[in-house]
Amino acid sequence: MDIANLQQIFTETFPHAAEAITVTAPGRVNLIGEHTDYNDGFVLPMAIDAKIVLVAAKRSDRQVQVYSVDFRAMDTFSLDEIEPTQKHRWSNYMRGMALMIQEAVGSPLQGMDIIMQGNVPQGAGLSSSAALEVGTAVVINELNQLQLDPVLMATLAQKAENQFVGVQCGIMDQFISMLGEAGHALFLDCRSLEYQKVPAPFHEAGAAIAVIDTAVQRGLVDSKYNERRQQCEDAVKALQQWQPDLRSLRDVGPELRPKVDELPAILAKRARHVVDENQRVIDSAAALKAGDLPAFGRYMNASHDSLRDDYEVSCRELDLLVDLVRANPETYGARMTGAGFGGCTVSLIPSSEVADLEQRVLPEYQAKTGLQARLFVFNAAAGARKL
Ligand code: ADP
Ligand code: MG
Repeated sequence: MDIANLQQIFTETFPHAAEAITVTAPGRVNLIGEHTDYNDGFVLPMAIDAKIVLVAAKRSDRQVQVYSVDFRAMDTFSLDEIEPTQKHRWSNYMRGMALMIQEAVGSPLQGMDIIMQGNVPQGAGLSSSAALEVGTAVVINELNQLQLDPVLMATLAQKAENQFVGVQCGIMDQFISMLGEAGHALFLDCRSLEYQKVPAPFHEAGAAIAVIDTAVQRGLVDSKYNERRQQCEDAVKALQQWQPDLRSLRDVGPELRPKVDELPAILAKRARHVVDENQRVIDSAAALKAGDLPAFGRYMNASHDSLRDDYEVSCRELDLLVDLVRANPETYGARMTGAGFGGCTVSLIPSSEVADLEQRVLPEYQAKTGLQARLFVFNAAAGARKL
């Protein structure tokens, strides 16, 4: 990403603009803790060094003009009447963000001129949408000198995605894009929003977080996602026969855990994944703190196997990639990441083995599926901020 070039495009596009600020917001990869967020549970994401950059200046009126370098398109809207647009769908993340912040602060915002560009792969499950929302939130916050709390901005970004764009997502993506710390993952409690930095100095330890995009066109995700959410709620209701005050699968403790296996088969499998995955997040965060990469890798492997066999949200292509990566004996661990049915795998490998992924795993995957997977190596990056 050439930031100086983007600032240059800003000046050319808006020659009469006020003094501009530059904001970046990262995508993210979830290292472990899948399908736990909507069960009030734990996740362990890290912000990545792929990001969206926005250059923006205040206007004296209430118009917003946004130019997307990637879509080569300009969208204009008024802050007095913020509606979704069919024509520039990418703009809805920004419109929604403006609406949610305006409602939250209860006073009108200033208009803005904005140019933006990103290198977070779109639609691959690395949360380019959260990066766009959170980046927009920081732009609005800075230009209007609102001094909003970052956690509030993250929850407003989630609200924009849920209510304005119409995508049901948990809080993880917006939270990590906003609050990520360089060289760290975040252990996040999705119920209380309490969080802890966990050191993730993979590069320094001679290791790499390798993300491979399956390139699968995802179709079923929404209906399957809603079905899983419903099954988790059903499992909670069923478990209430033994613990009437049980609120969510997050609250299943050691005494209730054996009852999970007594539930009707499907509910038992779903609940088992969520309950044990929460424990894996706690244990794997401890392994990372201790610098124990082999242990961390074993938790990643167990997470994938559970998502494949019990939660049943993997697919042939994800399983194939995971198996191909694990076939290298040096691999610490590999798993699917994100909602499933496509999207990406995440692996922890020695840095020296990145070449093996390029030279062996990707070609074998292509030979078996006809799909061209893309490989990324990410470091743990900082959250959204003004440069
Ligand atoms: P994901 O968040 O997994 O990448 P989504 O479908 O949730 O996938 O969000 C992708 C959408 O976000 C894109 O279709 C586009 O509308 C918007 N978006 C992401 N990155 C950019 C960008 N660099 N410029 C404009 N819009 C973007
Ligand atoms: Mg998204």
